[in-house]
Amino acid sequence: MTTGLPPELDALKQTVRQIVQDECLPLEAEYLARPPQEGLDDGGPRGIAEAVQGIVGTLTPEKWGRLTQISKDTGIYTSFVPQEYGGGGMGALGHVVLDEEVHKSIVQLPTSPVPLMMVGACTPEQEKKYLYPSIEGKLNYAFGQTEPQAGSDPGGMMQARAVRDGDDWVLNGTKMFISGAATADFLLVQAVTDSQKRQHGGITMFIVDNPSPGLSFEPIRIWITPGRAMQWFVHMDNLRVPRTQVLGEVGRGFTLGQKWLVHHDRLLRGAMALGILSRALEMAIDWSKQRVTYGRPIADRQAIQWMLTDVYIDIMTLRSITRETAARADQGEDVRVEASLIKYCAGEWGWRSIDKIMQVFGGLGETLDMPIAHWYHLLRHARIGGGTSEIHKFVMARALLDGKVSFQG
Ligand SMILES: Cc1cc2nc3c(=O)[nH]c(=O)nc-3n(C[C@H](O)[C@H](O)[C@H](O)COP(=O)(O)OP(=O)(O)OC[C@H]3O[C@@H](n4cnc5c(N)ncnc54)[C@H](O)[C@@H]3O)c2cc1C
Repeated sequence: MTTGLPPELDALKQTVRQIVQDECLPLEAEYLARPPQEGLDDGGPRGIAEAVQGIVGTLTPEKWGRLTQISKDTGIYTSFVPQEYGGGGMGALGHVVLDEEVHKSIVQLPTSPVPLMMVGACTPEQEKKYLYPSIEGKLNYAFGQTEPQAGSDPGGMMQARAVRDGDDWVLNGTKMFISGAATADFLLVQAVTDSQKRQHGGITMFIVDNPSPGLSFEPIRIWITPGRAMQWFVHMDNLRVPRTQVLGEVGRGFTLGQKWLVHHDRLLRGAMALGILSRALEMAIDWSKQRVTYGRPIADRQAIQWMLTDVYIDIMTLRSITRETAARADQGEDVRVEASLIKYCAGEWGWRSIDKIMQVFGGLGETLDMPIAHWYHLLRHARIGGGTSEIHKFVMARALLDGKVSFQG
C-alpha cells in the first residue's frame, strides 16, 4: 500500500516499526508489572521526557540502556534534530511519522530529549553547555510556563517576575504542573520582565540549573502516574541567575515558547494519539475475533463492528490532517491554526476512540496488565495538557472570524 510519504521517510517508518515490534513489545508485560516508585533511578527518561512519555511502569537500567543504544545505532535517536547540530534533519513530517511508530508500544523507544525550542536561540556558550549535551541525552530539561493563576491565559496572568540586579536576574514566583521538573538537569522558565508588555515583549525565558539556591519543588499527584509524582510546583525564591542564562532575547520568551508549542508539541500530540489508537485498534480487532458470547465471536455483532469502525475513521482522518500540516510546516507555512485543530482532534477524538477500545475489551480493558487503561488516562489528559480543547477551539474561532484561515480547499 502506498503511504504517500517520501521514500526515505517510508524507510525510516519501516525501521522504527520493526524495532518497536522486535524490541519494545516483548518488554511490555515486564514494564507494566514494575510500577515506578518514588526515588527510584531506573536509568530511564528524565525531565519532561519522563512525564510526557507517560511512564506508568519501568524497566531495569540495563534494558533502558539497550533500547537507547539501538535507537542511537540506527540513527533514530537524533533523526529529528537539525543537520547543523549533527542530527538527521528530517523535519516536522519525519518527526510525526517517527513519533507515531514510537507510541505504538507502551515501552517507548528512547529518542533524544533535546529541547527543540533552544535550537537557533542559544548563544555559543549555551549550545556547548546545554544544547549539545541534551541532544546526546546527557541532560534533560523541563518547561515552566503554567502557574496557579495562569493556565489557559499564561501571557495575561503570569505572576512570576524577573528583575535585573547588576549582571544577574532575580526570579520570584511559583510554577505549577511542571512535568519532570525535579528530575530535570535544567528548567526553561518564563517570567515577566516588563509588566506593561507581558506576552507582547515583556516575558523572558531563563535557563535555570537544577539544583540552584532558591529553587525548590513540591510534588503534585496526577491520576496518570499515581505511584510517582511526575508533575511539580516549582518555587523560585530570590533565585539568582546570571544574565547569560537568558534564552534568546529579553522579552521574547513567550514567543519562543509558543513557536515550540505550535511546531512540536501540538503536532506531536497528533502523532501520539495516532500511535496509541493504531495499536489499540489492532489489539481490539484481534480480541473481538477471539471473545465468544452467546455462541458467536463479539466481532460478529454490529455494536462491536461500529465501535471498531469509529476508531478507524478517527485514525485515518487525524493522520491525514497531521501529516499534511507537518508537510506544510516544513515548507515554511504558518500552521498555527491547523496545529490547534490537530491538538483538538488528538484530545477529543483520541479520548472518544480509546473509550470505545476499552469497551470492546470489557473488564480486561480496565486491568493494569494491559496498556489500554494507561492510554485512556493519557488521551483524557490530552484534552487538557498543552492547552485545553476549549482554548484551541477559541484559537480556531478567532481565526475564522478574522478571515485568517482558509477552509475552501
Ligand atoms: C499532567 C499535566 C502535565 C502538565 N505539564 C506542564 C508542563 O510541563 N509545563 C507547563 O508549563 N504546564 C504544564 N501543564 C499545565 C497545562 O498546560 C494546563 O493545565 C492547561 O494549559 C490548562 O490550564 P489550567 O489547568 O490552569 O486550566 P484553566 O485555565 O483553569 O481552565 C479551566 C477550564 O476553563 C476553560 N477555559 C479557560 N479559559 C476559557 C475561555 N476563554 N473560554 C472557554 N473556556 C475556557 C478551560 O478550557 C478549562 O476547561 C500540565 C498539566 C497537567 C495536568
